[in-house]
Amino acid sequence: MAGEKKKKIVKTIKVDADKCNGCRACEVICSAFHAAPKYSSNNPARSRIRVVREPIRDIYLPVYAGEYAPAECMGRDKYIIDGKEYDECAFCRAACPSRDIFKEPDSGLPLKCDMCEGEDEPLCVKWCLVDALTYEEREEDIEEEAEAQEDLEIGLEALADKYGLDTIMETVAKMSMSKKGS
Ligand code: SF4
Ligand code: SF4
Repeated sequence: MAGEKKKKIVKTIKVDADKCNGCRACEVICSAFHAAPKYSSNNPARSRIRVVREPIRDIYLPVYAGEYAPAECMGRDKYIIDGKEYDECAFCRAACPSRDIFKEPDSGLPLKCDMCEGEDEPLCVKWCLVDALTYEEREEDIEEEAEAQEDLEIGLEALADKYGLDTIMETVAKMSMSKKGS
């Protein structure tokens, strides 16, 4: 039976790499917003947006932290756009074992953009003075069942961020064994 339709707000940040000048203001404000306590420090290594900067080749590419990938890719991609050759992995949003980007520097836990939860507009967008980043919201219809699945995934992701994926998997395996034994 099809679930009931509900409205969902989809938040997106459009990146115009041609407008980015590599100032890194987005990294500064993101890391300050996520410092504990808030705004107590700024360290771009803690930022959920990182700017790939290669001034000699005129490459400035803001990249957002996305999903955690537990294994590195078997192959790599190289992009050439308008004659500029981007490094392998330059467009990738994942924290993964093959590089240090998008990992909390002290704990090594993966970082992910949360769209500055609680703010009316993402702070990196506000701080980007040249409009390389643009915030957009749109409404989409979703099935209630899909929403429940998504809530579950978000909850599990938060737990995995906090305790690590292996610990979560081991705990689930233990719970499943004890259920079978009861
Ligand atoms: S604030 Fe804007 S211009 Fe500056 S590095 Fe970030 S995206 Fe590029
Ligand atoms: S939207 Fe917020 S959390 Fe995401 S990269 Fe920008 S400042 Fe960081």
